[in-house]
Amino acid sequence: MKKSLNILLLLAFAGMALVACGDCCKQSRPKYIFYFIGDGMSFNHVLGTEQYNAVKQGKSEIERLNFSTFETRNFVTNYSTSNPVTDSAAAGTALATGVKTANSYIGVDDRGTELRNLTDVASEEGYMVGLVTNVGINHATPSCFYGHSSDRFGFPKLVDDYIESPVAFIAGSTIMDMKSGPDDPRYEKVTTVQLAERIRKAGIALTLDVEEAAKTEGKRVALVANDKENRHVPYVIDRKGKEVHTLLNHSKAAIEYLSREAKDGFFLMIEGGKLDYAAHEQDAVTTFAEVNEFAQCVDLALAFAAEHPDETLIVVTADHETGGMSLGWDNYEIRMNALIKQRASAIEMTKIVQQMRSEGKRDWNDYKQALSEGFGLWSHVPVRAEDEKLLKDDFYNIFLKYGPMVDGLYNKSEFMVYDAIRILNKAASIDWTSLYHTGMYTPLYAKGVGECRFLECRDQTEIPKTIASLMGGEL
Ligand SMILES: [Zn+2]
Repeated sequence: MKKSLNILLLLAFAGMALVACGDCCKQSRPKYIFYFIGDGMSFNHVLGTEQYNAVKQGKSEIERLNFSTFETRNFVTNYSTSNPVTDSAAAGTALATGVKTANSYIGVDDRGTELRNLTDVASEEGYMVGLVTNVGINHATPSCFYGHSSDRFGFPKLVDDYIESPVAFIAGSTIMDMKSGPDDPRYEKVTTVQLAERIRKAGIALTLDVEEAAKTEGKRVALVANDKENRHVPYVIDRKGKEVHTLLNHSKAAIEYLSREAKDGFFLMIEGGKLDYAAHEQDAVTTFAEVNEFAQCVDLALAFAAEHPDETLIVVTADHETGGMSLGWDNYEIRMNALIKQRASAIEMTKIVQQMRSEGKRDWNDYKQALSEGFGLWSHVPVRAEDEKLLKDDFYNIFLKYGPMVDGLYNKSEFMVYDAIRILNKAASIDWTSLYHTGMYTPLYAKGVGECRFLECRDQTEIPKTIASLMGGEL
């Protein structure tokens, strides 16, 4: 009697597990896998974008970004072995290999041992691999999917690792050269042009033509916006309308190429890399515009999934949080309306101010006019007398001393621009605690074949392990 009761209980539990798993477990191997990484994108960058979009579009209620409506939603820890605050190298390694490492380490553990990554597993399991970013193709996040280096600034070595890897399609802004790293005698001094030549010599079709990249047949492809110098593509907010090298266009090209070339399915990683740069600048509107384009790329995956409904998996996550962005510091309010007239990033505004300075403009009203046109200060956002005094002091200082500027890690802002951004943040009741990263949880969203498996993830290292297992392999 007791035995049969036990069997009944066992069957009941098995039934519950099946119900809990639902459609998700019926088919375990997705043929097409999209892995989105918003660099520096945590919960507030997503929610802030949704709030900003609603106000900008005059809607009374916020509209969720596509991925934040996924039914499978989770959050994960992301600390590295060297610090509770990770960097893009250690976090990228965790997201690509399932192993935690020290900050600045790419594809190796903290003792320097090379690690297997998702590209290795994918190609063993018959998937063709694509990597897309809007920063350099050998920047931290993409290089974790093919490279091994105990120094994220060892850019030439990472290019060699890419050449040796099975990555079929790669796209980004540029090939980073040694000017991008510290001035250290250990580094091989090579230029972007020389690195591009290395890629071409290996028989890879390196091109600046998005259309050509998408249509190339039977060859590995490297698509970059610039193969002459290490320069990143402009922020979404700074586009003049004609740019063909965008994260969206590069993602479209990757999907077209992989849909045609990959006979047995593909694994495509897409990184919103400039999102992190904008958050390092504490530039909210520029960050939101990058999040929006990242979501447009997820739209491409959703459209693809609609055509391949039982074969596609979409995973969206981030490597870490950047900027310590908080929504609301003042009087129980967020006032996104203060931001809707910002038309230029802090970096674009810095260029404008520097241009004016080089033209010898010495009238404060010219600078006031520029800040008004680019950021909506005075014309849209009232500026208090003490804040205007601060900006004016910055203006006088730029003639007295040629810098120093505020170091935002990737970019340097003029003090006047940095202070103008702070005034805007204050007006919107948005605050930032860091010019770098924080140790905050990162979000995880999944949709499609095997999505429920991601509910089990507690740390970011479990995400690639889950993807590898769904592929039928192991990291
Ligand atoms: Zn990062």
